[in-house]
Amino acid sequence: MTNILIFLGPPGSGKGTQAEKISEKFEIAHISTGVMLREHVDRKTDLGIKAKGILDEGSLVPDNLVIEMLKDRLDSEDCQNGAILDGFPRTLPQALSLENDEKFSIKSVIFFDVNQEELVKRMLERGRSDDTEESIKVRLKVYSNETEPLVDFYSKKNLLTEINALGSIDEISSTISELINL
Ligand code: AMP
Repeated sequence: MTNILIFLGPPGSGKGTQAEKISEKFEIAHISTGVMLREHVDRKTDLGIKAKGILDEGSLVPDNLVIEMLKDRLDSEDCQNGAILDGFPRTLPQALSLENDEKFSIKSVIFFDVNQEELVKRMLERGRSDDTEESIKVRLKVYSNETEPLVDFYSKKNLLTEINALGSIDEISSTISELINL
């Protein structure tokens, strides 16, 4: 059984930064589906070739492809102590793929709450190749249509804790550390 911690929140909310810190501190794996997909694009794998245009545009890679990629990754040795999922699930079918698999136990879902203005500012500062104004607009829209409903989904299961993600990196990371009970 693999224990899972989910970091849920809009793009630019600091999930990746926090996942990195928390994964070091608790010695659990950090899995970012965005990082994995960008690696596929760079390596020009079959998945990368399919995903490239989708990433540039800011929309979502099809569920079946992301689910398969993630499940393969969760089978690795370094996930035995548990894993933080950063950027997955992003849709209801992705969330259900975890629910319906007995190998996984979701311990907690941390929801990173940040207002839209701050998100756009942070993403433009980050300057990743998909951080163009056009793609940011699409990603925020996709987030509110596809991903935001998961806040309710996990809240109803009593798994969700909302944190104010506007503080300093260290403040937020100690808030999260106190919440974790893997
Ligand atoms: P991120 O680094 O989490 O912002 O992800 C970058 C891009 O990768 C997103 O805009 C999507 O195109 C794609 N992506 C990452 N995670 C997922 C996912 N769980 N489902 C579908 N697409 C994803």
